[in-house]
Amino acid sequence: MIVNMLEIASEQQIQHVVDRVNEAGYQAHVIHGTERTIVAAVGSGNRHQIEALRGAPGVDDVVPISQPFKLVSRQVRPQRSAVKVSHVSIGGPEIVVIAGPCSVESREQVLSTALAVKRAGAVMLRGGAYKPRTSPYEFQGLGKEALEVLSEVRRETGLPVVTEVMSTEDVDLICEHADMLQVGARNMQNFALLRRLAGIDKPVLLKRGPAATVREWLLAAEYLLSGGNSQVVLCERGIKTFETELRNTVDLAGVALARELSHLPVLVDPSHGTGRPSLIGPVSRAAIAAGADGLIIEVHPCPERALSDGAQSLDFEAFAQVMREIARPLRRIADGAAS
Ligand code: PEP
Ligand code: MN
Repeated sequence: MIVNMLEIASEQQIQHVVDRVNEAGYQAHVIHGTERTIVAAVGSGNRHQIEALRGAPGVDDVVPISQPFKLVSRQVRPQRSAVKVSHVSIGGPEIVVIAGPCSVESREQVLSTALAVKRAGAVMLRGGAYKPRTSPYEFQGLGKEALEVLSEVRRETGLPVVTEVMSTEDVDLICEHADMLQVGARNMQNFALLRRLAGIDKPVLLKRGPAATVREWLLAAEYLLSGGNSQVVLCERGIKTFETELRNTVDLAGVALARELSHLPVLVDPSHGTGRPSLIGPVSRAAIAAGADGLIIEVHPCPERALSDGAQSLDFEAFAQVMREIARPLRRIADGAAS
């Protein structure tokens, strides 16, 4: 249920509603909008007691939240949210591009990549320290050593860092080194991990599971918001379909739908989404046209030597080209007039 307060509602009247919502057995979440305040009653409790708040001072209306995800939904927060990652704002007017290697392999590799992607216009660095690999025989990431490299490169370049967390055990250590924690596609429904990340004071990049519906994805985000972490950015990275020529299929309608249903920012990962360097430019432009708030792209100094995901990684020049292309008018590119 949502209790819409009047524009003129006082702090005291809002607090009264919060107390009544808690007494009725719900969790009260106060959302301060630009014009008015909303008190969302989430969880389960005595519905009649909330409906009765229609008569309370300072209350405009009480309406049910029809979506299964509550705090994530635009019913609770009609205006879009922006998430701050250090000095970068994701979900604001600027398209945010995050770039870097799939895995951290060495200091030189990460530093040279960070400098190159920054020069080309990226505003954040990505790099995996703990890698979710399909086979246990593949490179699993350098762990703590990689986190130290990321910290050092952030200090040298000023680029905030996002890196993946796979286990609740690693959360504290990763928080010491990263500005944002990524929940990978395979862990989107790792509820223990989501509950743990709900309690941290760092933004979370929540990738969509390869077989997850938009509703399941938004419900995964709801774990974070309902547990107290509202700094959540969604990321579409492709889903499984019958197509075999692509690593995954980027669901751009799903991006538009997620932005329609939720106030959270949405990024697109065209690297995992296609598995093909040649498609990263076109899919990046399409993602922006569909409303994405930014992109996360894999870049490596020498993709053929990469320890993971080399086949889909861009080298520095190819990344710079993608950045130039996304800055140009969409129509000219689509016509092939600007290459
Ligand atoms: C990655 O970002 O390198 C990664 C493993 O992503 P995903 O979880 O989307 O597969
Ligand atoms: Mn990867």
